[in-house]
Amino acid sequence: MEIFDPITRSQSILQQMSLVSSTDDKQKLTSLLTSLSTELDNIKLIAHQLTEEISQLQEGQTRLLSLGATQSIIKPEIKSGCYIFGNEKGFFCPSCYDKSGNKVATTRINSKLRVCPACRASIK
Ligand SMILES: [Zn+2]
Repeated sequence: MEIFDPITRSQSILQQMSLVSSTDDKQKLTSLLTSLSTELDNIKLIAHQLTEEISQLQEGQTRLLSLGATQSIIKPEIKSGCYIFGNEKGFFCPSCYDKSGNKVATTRINSKLRVCPACRASIK
């Protein structure tokens, strides 16, 4: 819905009203007032919808911002080429976590090599 259409129509109605002289045509004036009132209702309705859309957008933005804050808190440390998380035991594949957010525990091959069971990456 376009909020400017009823505003433009209201302005043209007001212009017509200003052209009606007070002595003639009171009926015409009344009908113009009725149209003007309808257009104002339209504007009110659209403005209401826009206000709701804005508050929904703001809610979405707040959610995104708090999501970003959460993610930066759990940003993992790197140890031996793997991600480690303060509250969890284990060495996790960094590429799986970066790509999909999955914590995949790597398997230790020997003292210098680990491998990810999901993406098969060798981590030194
Ligand atoms: Zn992986």
